Amino acid sequence: MNHVPWWRHAVCYQIYVRSFADSDGDGIGDLAGITDRLPYLADLGVDAIWLTPFYRSPQADHGYDVADYRDVDPLFGSLDTFDAMLSRAHELGLRVIVDIVPNHSSDEHDWFKAALTAGRGSPERDRYVFRDGRGADGAEPPNNWQSVFGGPAWTRLDDGQWYLHLFDGKQPDFNWEDPEVGDEFESVLRFWLDRGVDGFRIDVAHGLAKAPGLPDSQYEAVRGPEDLSPTGLSIEALAPRPYWDQAAVHEVYRRWHRVLASYDGDRMAIAEAWVPTAEALARYVRSDELQQAFNFLWLQADWSASQFRDVLVDTYAAVEPVDATPTWVLANHDVIRTVTRYGDGDVGLRRARAAALAMLALPGSAYVYQGDELGLPQVDVAEADRQDPTWRRGGGVGRDGCRIPIPWSDAGPPFGFGPNGSAPWLPQPVPLWGDLSVASQQDDPESTLALYRSALRLRRELVPDLGDRVSLVDRGDSDVFAFARSAAAPDRPALVCVVNGGAAAVPVGDLGEPILTSEPDAVTADALAPDTAGWFRAG
Ligand code: BGC
Repeated sequence: MNHVPWWRHAVCYQIYVRSFADSDGDGIGDLAGITDRLPYLADLGVDAIWLTPFYRSPQADHGYDVADYRDVDPLFGSLDTFDAMLSRAHELGLRVIVDIVPNHSSDEHDWFKAALTAGRGSPERDRYVFRDGRGADGAEPPNNWQSVFGGPAWTRLDDGQWYLHLFDGKQPDFNWEDPEVGDEFESVLRFWLDRGVDGFRIDVAHGLAKAPGLPDSQYEAVRGPEDLSPTGLSIEALAPRPYWDQAAVHEVYRRWHRVLASYDGDRMAIAEAWVPTAEALARYVRSDELQQAFNFLWLQADWSASQFRDVLVDTYAAVEPVDATPTWVLANHDVIRTVTRYGDGDVGLRRARAAALAMLALPGSAYVYQGDELGLPQVDVAEADRQDPTWRRGGGVGRDGCRIPIPWSDAGPPFGFGPNGSAPWLPQPVPLWGDLSVASQQDDPESTLALYRSALRLRRELVPDLGDRVSLVDRGDSDVFAFARSAAAPDRPALVCVVNGGAAAVPVGDLGEPILTSEPDAVTADALAPDTAGWFRAG
């Protein structure tokens, strides 16, 4: 038998640490809170968790601005609470992936502070991207690059030099041409691997290398806050730029591959790489690079059977030539929640449940964002409560609305997120959060939570029967997205998943009884209702 690494078909649950569970009542989620809730995740049936950054940080971008890569911020706990969380997760059979942020540090990182005092031309400044400006007295930024969060990607210092930050001004970009940067990150990876983490999620993995000479970008001129897709991302976020997806990033990941391979236990890394084509994405998962890359095609697709078909075809076109495993993502902490993206009110929830069923029927690895198993919608956050730097800098719709602290109980704010009387860092909507809480859904067999549990349990049971291949099934109706998974052996039943993206019920009688549907009454009189999905055994 071929060895199948654990991550190849894993369902990984993304924990946005600030918003998951607050053990000490400061309003911010923490590592001890996660440890307390691990049994919930084991019971849900996921295989792994991915934790957003919990390192020492001034929290200018909620942890994606790291001041010390080898320590836990006191907001979230300590190295001891991390170790306790990790060992409890492992006891429960859950793997743990941690976020690594190699494109930029915090401006409060020791290296950046040293760069400021050391002055121009120093080895300290060479670890970041410092340049003189253009125009009279160098008063113009060195080039036209814009920050992803809005405004120029350069900030000028009192001594006249500028430094590059593709994100907030408090997130200076590293210079990966300086060998010290590569050595430092190898050492950081080893620090967490030695502690026992199972893998890394690589933040902005496509950004580390910049084009030689830092040329102007052709696309910056046309970019503005009005250019937003329904996900809240800039619609040309994927356009080629001299700071995205440069060939030299792949050298970094070849090195990281060797680091991971020097440990036992199939350690892995997954790239967050926003790149324009399937071929570009495939380069990150070549056999000597990373194990996985997030496939954001589905997250960018509308509720549309034809777009879903394209997602499937394009995904396999990307991963098959390099024999990589596909990944599937419907949401994360940077985009508008799936329920809201797919429509208003009940219809959005129905569609999100159907899409989840389709995602969980596919081979490969699925990434579930916290709260999606509860059907949480995007929340409209009042201007005074906004926290996201992208909002402040005018770079987007703001990401606070998908980061509202999780409702565990139905007993009113903070809904079990923290101790009674504590105030979560973002306000929770009342009474909605009570209705959608874990407590309200726990014993309801028709709840979204129950649906996720059933789907994850069945997915595990089906694994021995199912092979890795997937093919589109033509049901003679362009509003239907249907696919079949191959059987593991000729005597085993295969699985067919049907999603009805149209306005009328569609016949499914020839497929037999469904083994799971996204709504309790989805199949009546041998027909699948609009905005629902079903799993069928074909055998
Ligand atoms: C993360 C964001 C973060 C940004 C800068 C990303 O793509 O997912 O949440 O703001 O990188 O680190």
